[in-house]
Amino acid sequence: MTENNQKPNDQEDVSLYEKIIGRTEELFDSGRKNLDEALKKAGEDLASAGNFTREQADKISTYVKRDIEHAIENAGKARENLKEAVAPGRVAAGAQSFFSRILTSTAETFSEWARKSEQQLEFKTGEITSPGTLTCKNCMEEIHMRKTAKIPPCPKCHQTLFRKSY
Ligand SMILES: [Zn+2]
Repeated sequence: MTENNQKPNDQEDVSLYEKIIGRTEELFDSGRKNLDEALKKAGEDLASAGNFTREQADKISTYVKRDIEHAIENAGKARENLKEAVAPGRVAAGAQSFFSRILTSTAETFSEWARKSEQQLEFKTGEITSPGTLTCKNCMEEIHMRKTAKIPPCPKCHQTLFRKSY
């Protein structure tokens, strides 16, 4: 078990991830956009605000989309484990609240993003992801992510591929 440590220069990507989630949730909740449209518009809004490039927004949006798809797949299964991750007092606005919503929802709520593929979603070193437990595919070491962060290499074997649970 290893706590995840963030370098300061990872903060910009993490911040963008949180902003994209926040904006996606707002747009989705407005009822005028489905998840795909909301995510696309969120990236466009943030890039046109000028603090981030289009490329950054596109890259981070792919992580957001993967994490939402993964959360939808795990919706309902995760309720018990989720209590720790989203305990009162630790719930922040943004990514954590949106993911806890998805994870405790009935699957149908977000069914438009339910994946048809049986293939497991991949989590790799250097990508940003929401809170959860990452397990190294090589040595099974666990990394407990308590907030949105950049995925480090495995602290034990230095490999870079993980699966995720909550
Ligand atoms: Zn490992």
